[in-house]
Amino acid sequence: MDLIHQRDRLRKEMNHARAGGDVVGLVPTMGALHEGHASLIRKAASECDTVAVSVFVNPLQFGPLEDLASYPRCLDADLAVAARAGASLVFAPTIENLWPAGLPVTVVAVGAVTSTLEGGSRPGHFDGVATVVATLLGLAGTCRAYFGEKDFQQLVVVRRLVEDLGLAAEVAACPTVREIDGLALSSRNAFLSASERRAAPVLSQALAAARNAYASGERAGEVIGRIMALVIEAETSAHLDYAEVVDPVSLVPVDRVVSEARLMVAARVGAVRLIDNMAVGSS
Ligand code: AMP
Repeated sequence: MDLIHQRDRLRKEMNHARAGGDVVGLVPTMGALHEGHASLIRKAASECDTVAVSVFVNPLQFGPLEDLASYPRCLDADLAVAARAGASLVFAPTIENLWPAGLPVTVVAVGAVTSTLEGGSRPGHFDGVATVVATLLGLAGTCRAYFGEKDFQQLVVVRRLVEDLGLAAEVAACPTVREIDGLALSSRNAFLSASERRAAPVLSQALAAARNAYASGERAGEVIGRIMALVIEAETSAHLDYAEVVDPVSLVPVDRVVSEARLMVAARVGAVRLIDNMAVGSS
């Protein structure tokens, strides 16, 4: 597996692979790779001949009070995870490698789907995400690009970005990988204290309670949202940010779950902000 840093090398390697007839895959990450990332890489390796994993802690998607400085960075361990999962190369640029002209003055803003939920709580976050994803997809060229359902709103934003700009990527969604107690794997889980770690599965428990309510016949989005909120609020170390039932494409809250909807929750556990989501009403 190759390790590359320069953006022109990424473009060249992807062009070269395609010229040789390879299907090319891209797995964008911020590093601190865990089994969730590995599942994306394995899926990419099973569907593509050449798989590039990008490892870049994107400063554009962090707010001024967020954890950019303390975000975990461990490239050596990431290389081992990526190699084991079947990556062909890891692209780990510095900020200057990725944007030689300086931080982008071009901002990719995806509109309505970025204004609520994570976008409501983290102003500018999705502009940062969309700008880096557009940069990476521009460099990679025609490819399959793998994203986790763990960050469901991000997946919706990327799908819309690719659609609106006619980018040459086929977006592939991968299911959320969880700990045995339901906690969705996240690089930020490492920041949880032992007691916070015990409390953290409350997000997935809230989603499970909502699914049970749906299975028992509840269809009102607001009621299902309140059920999730009550579960999270019952955990004293958790501070609810939102608990909503939304349309899986527009992310607009649904009055009634008639076909598939998405359960979306976010909460702070101690100082760590966690998000989770699940489908409801799907066959
Ligand atoms: P990140 O490094 O957090 O930016 O995540 C990189 C990619 O991995 C994103 O597409 C995430 O949605 C995905 N991802 C992160 N955690 C998980 C998980 N627990 N299960 C599946 N995919 C994940």
